[in-house]
Amino acid sequence: KKRVVSGVQPTGSIHLGNYFGAIKNWVALQNVYDTLFFIVDLHAITLPYDTQQLSKATRSTAAIYLACGVDPSKASVFVQSHVRAHVELMWLLSSTTPIGWLNKMIQFKEKSRKAGDEEVGVALLTYPVLMASDILLYQSDFVPVGEDQKQHLELTRDLAERVNNLYGGRKWKKLGGRGGTIFKVPEPLIPPAGARIMSLTDGLSKMSKSAPSDQSRINILDPKDLIANKIKRCKTDSFPGLEFDNSERPECNNLVSIYQLISGKTKEEVVQECQNMNWGTFKPLLTDALIDHLHPIQVRYEEIMSDSGYLDGVLAQGARNAADIADSTLNNIYQAMGFFKRQ
Ligand code: ATP
Ligand code: MG
Repeated sequence: KKRVVSGVQPTGSIHLGNYFGAIKNWVALQNVYDTLFFIVDLHAITLPYDTQQLSKATRSTAAIYLACGVDPSKASVFVQSHVRAHVELMWLLSSTTPIGWLNKMIQFKEKSRKAGDEEVGVALLTYPVLMASDILLYQSDFVPVGEDQKQHLELTRDLAERVNNLYGGRKWKKLGGRGGTIFKVPEPLIPPAGARIMSLTDGLSKMSKSAPSDQSRINILDPKDLIANKIKRCKTDSFPGLEFDNSERPECNNLVSIYQLISGKTKEEVVQECQNMNWGTFKPLLTDALIDHLHPIQVRYEEIMSDSGYLDGVLAQGARNAADIADSTLNNIYQAMGFFKRQ
């Protein structure tokens, strides 16, 4: 079986973007691939964060994975920091990563500009090296990535090739290794629809956990009234009718796209249904569709959260599965880089 890995940061509330851009697709992938889904808590500390919240958010994110349909009998679900190999490989890879590659990363530029120079830790710059470790440790064949992560995956691929060239092949064989490549070079898996859900308050920026206003997103755990309120107040326009793909109407495109995804209808069906609607008729329709879809997930979430033994067991087993694979990659890279083997 080909392998797929992916994760979400426990940096805030999981929203529709994370759901349609990541978690919902995992549920289909787990039936086809060997899958590892983790909560990337080590990534969550790259910007200032609340120590009182990290552990809670990690647990809650894990419960959301399961509530959304990730099945621990098919996928390994675990917490990134529970598998030490991630950080270890990161150091080894750092030595081989040109700093110029990291300086070019758009997300670094954006996030560092927002945070201000004094607030920016080195980890914000080296974050993509940790992400590369997350992927390369497991010899992943595919990585599902939203638009925002494409550049980081490209860097991961470049880094894998660089390490393979520098340390793999004959040189590794001379050190007693198997020779050949150390890392598999992973391919991106871009989800067909829902690759980019936009903010409710600005159709040109993506829906994001870290956006300051909660009005800008629908969270998976938002109660009914809050969903209704957010949709009521979300940004719209004054064009007649509703449509997809009009670049002058980013908010409209986003809202009808969300409606299409959440209702499971085809684009044509949504065009038929909504093209002559005004916002006053569409908004309640969208609100109801969101509530209907999210309610069962919220019920399952509460069940999972109230059974801590179950969740802890799932995460412990997931971490053991992951560590087995990760340790074998780590042994290879230490050997290929010429380290003295521990007896
Ligand atoms: P943060 O603001 O803290 O970076 P985020 O909302 O961008 O949070 P991440 O944890 O960075 O979420 O990303 C988790 C996954 O969700 C990634 O696979 C990412 O591509 C996907 N994702 C994030 N935001 C969106 C979005 N608006 N639309 C589609 N997919 C998204
Ligand atoms: Mg992000």
